[in-house]
Amino acid sequence: MEKINQLTNCIYCDKQSDNLTDEHVIPLGLGGTNILKSSSCLSCNEITSKFENFILRGHWLGIRKKLNTGSRRKNRPFAPLKVNLIKPDGTKIPGTVPVEECTFQLIFSLFEPEILATEIQGGIKPYAKGIGMMTIGAGGPTILTESDGRKRRILGGEKIEYLLHEFTAENFFRFLAKVAHSFAIKERGINVCKTYFLREIILGNTKDAMKYIGNASYLAQGIRLKRIDRFHSLELLEVNQYLTVLVQLFNVANHDVQPIYQVVVGEIQ
Ligand SMILES: [Zn+2]
Repeated sequence: MEKINQLTNCIYCDKQSDNLTDEHVIPLGLGGTNILKSSSCLSCNEITSKFENFILRGHWLGIRKKLNTGSRRKNRPFAPLKVNLIKPDGTKIPGTVPVEECTFQLIFSLFEPEILATEIQGGIKPYAKGIGMMTIGAGGPTILTESDGRKRRILGGEKIEYLLHEFTAENFFRFLAKVAHSFAIKERGINVCKTYFLREIILGNTKDAMKYIGNASYLAQGIRLKRIDRFHSLELLEVNQYLTVLVQLFNVANHDVQPIYQVVVGEIQ
Protein backbone atom coordinates (compact mmCIF):
# COMPACT_ATOMS: atom_id res chain seq x y z
CA MET A 1 0.00 0.00 0.00
CA GLU A 2 1.43 3.31 -1.08
CA LYS A 3 1.72 5.87 1.67
CA ILE A 4 -0.41 8.89 0.80
CA ASN A 5 -0.21 11.81 3.17
CA GLN A 6 -1.54 14.51 0.92
CA LEU A 7 -4.88 14.70 2.62
CA THR A 8 -8.07 16.10 1.16
CA ASN A 9 -10.35 15.06 4.01
CA CYS A 10 -10.20 15.74 7.73
CA ILE A 11 -8.59 12.80 9.56
CA TYR A 12 -11.23 13.01 12.32
CA CYS A 13 -14.62 13.63 10.69
CA ASP A 14 -13.56 12.50 7.19
CA LYS A 15 -15.27 15.51 5.59
CA GLN A 16 -13.64 17.13 2.60
CA SER A 17 -12.20 20.56 3.38
CA ASP A 18 -9.98 23.13 1.67
CA ASN A 19 -9.02 24.51 5.06
CA LEU A 20 -7.20 21.68 6.78
CA THR A 21 -4.88 22.74 9.59
CA ASP A 22 -1.59 21.11 10.58
CA GLU A 23 -1.76 18.77 13.55
CA HIS A 24 0.87 18.06 16.17
CA VAL A 25 0.90 14.32 16.93
CA ILE A 26 1.88 15.21 20.52
CA PRO A 27 0.85 18.77 21.39
CA LEU A 28 3.49 21.46 21.16
CA GLY A 29 2.81 22.26 24.80
CA LEU A 30 4.12 18.80 25.73
CA GLY A 31 7.23 19.19 23.62
CA GLY A 32 5.77 17.51 20.52
CA THR A 33 7.72 18.12 17.32
CA ASN A 34 5.99 15.75 14.87
CA ILE A 35 3.50 17.42 12.58
CA LEU A 36 0.92 15.91 10.27
CA LYS A 37 0.45 18.52 7.58
CA SER A 38 -3.02 19.74 6.55
CA SER A 39 -5.04 17.15 8.39
CA SER A 40 -7.77 18.61 10.60
CA CYS A 41 -10.79 20.70 9.64
CA LEU A 42 -11.48 23.80 11.69
CA SER A 43 -14.46 22.43 13.56
CA CYS A 44 -12.60 19.27 14.58
CA ASN A 45 -9.62 21.40 15.57
CA GLU A 46 -11.89 23.30 17.92
CA ILE A 47 -13.13 20.05 19.49
CA THR A 48 -9.69 18.49 19.94
CA SER A 49 -8.12 21.70 21.26
CA LYS A 50 -10.68 21.75 24.03
CA PHE A 51 -9.78 18.40 25.61
CA GLU A 52 -6.08 18.87 24.93
CA ASN A 53 -6.15 22.17 26.76
CA PHE A 54 -7.96 20.57 29.69
CA ILE A 55 -4.99 18.28 30.14
CA LEU A 56 -2.25 20.76 29.25
CA ARG A 57 -3.53 23.51 31.50
CA GLY A 58 -4.81 21.19 34.19
CA HIS A 59 -3.07 18.23 35.65
CA TRP A 60 -0.05 18.31 33.37
CA LEU A 61 0.80 21.94 33.90
CA GLY A 62 3.24 21.08 36.69
CA ILE A 63 5.19 18.57 34.66
CA ARG A 64 5.26 20.87 31.63
CA LYS A 65 6.84 23.52 33.78
CA LYS A 66 9.29 21.03 35.31
CA LEU A 67 10.37 19.71 31.92
CA ASN A 68 10.20 23.08 30.26
CA THR A 69 8.26 21.54 27.40
CA GLY A 70 7.44 24.87 25.86
CA SER A 71 4.24 26.65 25.06
CA ARG A 72 2.61 28.65 22.30
CA ARG A 73 2.36 31.48 24.78
CA LYS A 74 6.05 32.17 25.01
CA ASN A 75 7.25 34.35 27.89
CA ARG A 76 3.88 34.34 29.52
CA PRO A 77 3.97 32.78 32.97
CA PHE A 78 1.89 29.69 33.67
CA ALA A 79 -1.21 30.48 35.72
CA PRO A 80 -1.28 28.92 39.20
CA LEU A 81 -2.70 25.42 39.46
CA LYS A 82 -6.14 25.05 40.91
CA VAL A 83 -6.15 22.51 43.71
CA ASN A 84 -8.08 21.45 46.76
CA LEU A 85 -6.53 22.41 50.07
CA ILE A 86 -6.99 19.74 52.71
CA LYS A 87 -7.71 20.96 56.22
CA PRO A 88 -6.59 18.95 59.27
CA ASP A 89 -10.12 17.63 59.74
CA GLY A 90 -10.07 16.34 56.17
CA THR A 91 -12.37 18.88 54.59
CA LYS A 92 -11.30 20.40 51.31
CA ILE A 93 -11.43 23.93 50.09
CA PRO A 94 -10.50 25.22 46.63
CA GLY A 95 -7.17 27.01 46.35
CA THR A 96 -4.21 27.59 44.06
CA VAL A 97 -0.52 26.64 44.04
CA PRO A 98 2.21 28.25 41.93
CA VAL A 99 3.18 25.88 39.15
CA GLU A 100 6.83 26.01 40.25
CA GLU A 101 5.95 24.45 43.59
CA CYS A 102 4.08 21.48 42.22
CA THR A 103 5.65 18.07 42.36
CA PHE A 104 6.07 15.90 39.32
CA GLN A 105 3.02 13.70 39.40
CA LEU A 106 1.20 11.77 36.78
CA ILE A 107 -1.86 9.61 36.97
CA PHE A 108 -2.27 6.70 34.63
CA SER A 109 -5.11 4.29 34.24
CA LEU A 110 -4.29 0.62 33.91
CA PHE A 111 -6.17 -1.97 31.90
CA GLU A 112 -5.96 -3.63 28.55
CA PRO A 113 -7.96 -2.70 25.49
CA GLU A 114 -10.83 -5.18 25.32
CA ILE A 115 -10.48 -5.82 21.65
CA LEU A 116 -6.90 -7.02 22.02
CA ALA A 117 -7.34 -8.79 25.32
CA THR A 118 -10.03 -10.88 23.69
CA GLU A 119 -7.98 -11.52 20.55
CA ILE A 120 -4.71 -12.42 22.14
CA GLN A 121 -5.77 -14.19 25.27
CA GLY A 122 -8.40 -16.33 23.63
CA GLY A 123 -11.49 -14.85 25.15
CA ILE A 124 -10.00 -13.84 28.48
CA LYS A 125 -11.40 -10.50 29.54
CA PRO A 126 -9.16 -7.61 30.54
CA TYR A 127 -7.79 -8.11 34.02
CA ALA A 128 -9.35 -4.94 35.26
CA LYS A 129 -12.82 -3.77 34.52
CA GLY A 130 -12.79 -0.12 35.31
CA ILE A 131 -9.90 2.11 35.97
CA GLY A 132 -6.97 1.43 38.22
CA MET A 133 -4.75 4.36 38.96
CA MET A 134 -1.05 4.53 39.52
CA THR A 135 0.96 7.61 40.27
CA ILE A 136 4.50 8.44 39.42
CA GLY A 137 6.28 11.18 41.24
CA ALA A 138 9.75 12.62 41.38
CA GLY A 139 9.22 14.89 44.33
CA GLY A 140 6.97 12.82 46.51
CA PRO A 141 3.33 13.56 47.03
CA THR A 142 2.16 16.96 48.12
CA ILE A 143 -0.05 17.61 51.08
CA LEU A 144 -1.87 20.86 51.13
CA THR A 145 -3.12 21.87 54.53
CA GLU A 146 -4.71 24.80 56.19
CA SER A 147 -3.72 24.27 59.77
CA ASP A 148 -3.74 27.64 61.42
CA GLY A 149 -6.20 29.71 59.53
CA ARG A 150 -3.64 30.65 56.91
CA LYS A 151 -3.09 28.59 53.82
CA ARG A 152 0.07 26.60 54.27
CA ARG A 153 1.66 24.06 52.04
CA ILE A 154 3.52 21.07 53.36
CA LEU A 155 5.57 19.17 50.82
CA GLY A 156 6.62 15.55 50.97
CA GLY A 157 3.84 14.16 53.14
CA GLU A 158 1.64 11.17 52.65
CA LYS A 159 -1.60 12.43 51.23
CA ILE A 160 -2.11 13.78 47.78
CA GLU A 161 -4.64 15.99 46.20
CA TYR A 162 -5.02 16.00 42.45
CA LEU A 163 -6.76 18.16 40.01
CA LEU A 164 -9.01 15.29 39.07
CA HIS A 165 -11.74 17.51 37.76
CA GLU A 166 -9.30 18.65 35.11
CA PHE A 167 -7.91 15.20 34.45
CA THR A 168 -10.85 13.00 33.70
CA ALA A 169 -10.35 9.57 32.23
CA GLU A 170 -12.45 10.61 29.27
CA ASN A 171 -10.14 13.50 28.40
CA PHE A 172 -7.12 11.25 28.80
CA PHE A 173 -8.54 8.57 26.50
CA ARG A 174 -9.46 11.14 23.89
CA PHE A 175 -5.93 12.49 24.14
CA LEU A 176 -4.40 9.03 23.66
CA ALA A 177 -6.80 8.29 20.81
CA LYS A 178 -5.83 11.48 19.01
CA VAL A 179 -2.11 10.83 19.45
CA ALA A 180 -2.39 7.27 18.12
CA HIS A 181 -4.74 8.11 15.25
CA SER A 182 -2.63 10.97 13.92
CA PHE A 183 0.64 9.07 14.42
CA ALA A 184 -0.60 6.04 12.49
CA ILE A 185 -1.70 8.23 9.58
CA LYS A 186 1.54 10.17 9.64
CA GLU A 187 3.62 6.99 9.55
CA ARG A 188 1.57 4.83 7.21
CA GLY A 189 -0.70 7.18 5.31
CA ILE A 190 -4.47 7.51 5.35
CA ASN A 191 -5.04 4.34 3.33
CA VAL A 192 -3.43 1.96 5.79
CA CYS A 193 -6.71 1.12 7.54
CA LYS A 194 -9.99 0.16 5.99
CA THR A 195 -11.78 0.96 9.24
CA TYR A 196 -10.67 3.58 11.74
CA PHE A 197 -11.97 3.02 15.26
CA LEU A 198 -10.99 6.14 17.15
CA ARG A 199 -12.72 9.01 15.40
CA GLU A 200 -15.92 8.94 17.46
CA ILE A 201 -13.89 8.76 20.67
CA ILE A 202 -11.74 11.72 19.65
CA LEU A 203 -14.78 13.76 18.68
CA GLY A 204 -16.52 12.92 21.96
CA ASN A 205 -19.42 11.04 20.39
CA THR A 206 -18.89 7.86 22.37
CA LYS A 207 -17.49 6.81 25.71
CA ASP A 208 -16.59 3.38 24.35
CA ALA A 209 -12.87 4.08 24.62
CA MET A 210 -11.92 1.12 26.79
CA LYS A 211 -12.55 -1.22 23.92
CA TYR A 212 -9.66 0.29 22.00
CA ILE A 213 -7.39 1.95 24.54
CA GLY A 214 -5.61 0.42 27.49
CA ASN A 215 -2.41 -0.53 29.17
CA ALA A 216 -0.24 -2.94 27.21
CA SER A 217 0.46 -5.09 30.23
CA TYR A 218 0.71 -8.31 28.24
CA LEU A 219 3.77 -7.02 26.40
CA ALA A 220 7.17 -7.97 27.68
CA GLN A 221 8.36 -5.82 30.55
CA GLY A 222 11.22 -3.49 29.91
CA ILE A 223 10.35 -2.90 26.25
CA ARG A 224 11.92 0.27 24.89
CA LEU A 225 9.88 2.21 22.40
CA LYS A 226 11.24 4.52 19.76
CA ARG A 227 11.46 8.06 21.04
CA ILE A 228 9.77 10.53 18.70
CA ASP A 229 10.76 13.72 20.51
CA ARG A 230 12.51 14.72 23.72
CA PHE A 231 9.89 13.37 26.04
CA HIS A 232 7.63 10.81 24.43
CA SER A 233 7.84 7.48 22.65
CA LEU A 234 5.50 6.04 20.06
CA GLU A 235 5.66 2.92 17.99
CA LEU A 236 3.40 1.10 15.57
CA LEU A 237 2.61 -2.52 16.32
CA GLU A 238 0.48 -4.77 14.16
CA VAL A 239 -1.56 -7.29 16.10
CA ASN A 240 -3.36 -9.75 13.86
CA GLN A 241 -5.47 -7.60 11.54
CA TYR A 242 -5.24 -4.53 13.76
CA LEU A 243 -2.93 -1.55 13.58
CA THR A 244 -2.09 -0.39 17.08
CA VAL A 245 0.09 2.37 18.47
CA LEU A 246 2.13 2.00 21.63
CA VAL A 247 2.36 5.21 23.61
CA GLN A 248 4.72 5.97 26.46
CA LEU A 249 4.50 9.50 27.79
CA PHE A 250 7.06 11.50 29.75
CA ASN A 251 9.67 8.79 29.62
CA VAL A 252 12.37 11.17 30.73
CA ALA A 253 13.53 9.72 33.99
CA ASN A 254 12.85 6.05 34.39
CA HIS A 255 11.78 4.09 31.33
CA ASP A 256 10.60 1.11 33.29
CA VAL A 257 7.90 2.67 35.40
CA GLN A 258 5.95 4.66 32.87
CA PRO A 259 3.08 2.58 31.58
CA ILE A 260 2.90 1.78 27.90
CA TYR A 261 -0.53 2.29 26.42
CA GLN A 262 -1.77 0.41 23.44
CA VAL A 263 -4.32 2.10 21.25
CA VAL A 264 -6.09 0.12 18.55
CA VAL A 265 -6.29 2.43 15.56
CA GLY A 266 -8.18 0.32 13.07
CA GLU A 267 -8.34 -2.70 10.83
CA ILE A 268 -5.51 -2.95 8.36
CA GLN A 269 -6.42 -3.05 4.66
ZN1 LIG B 1 -13.11 17.38 10.81
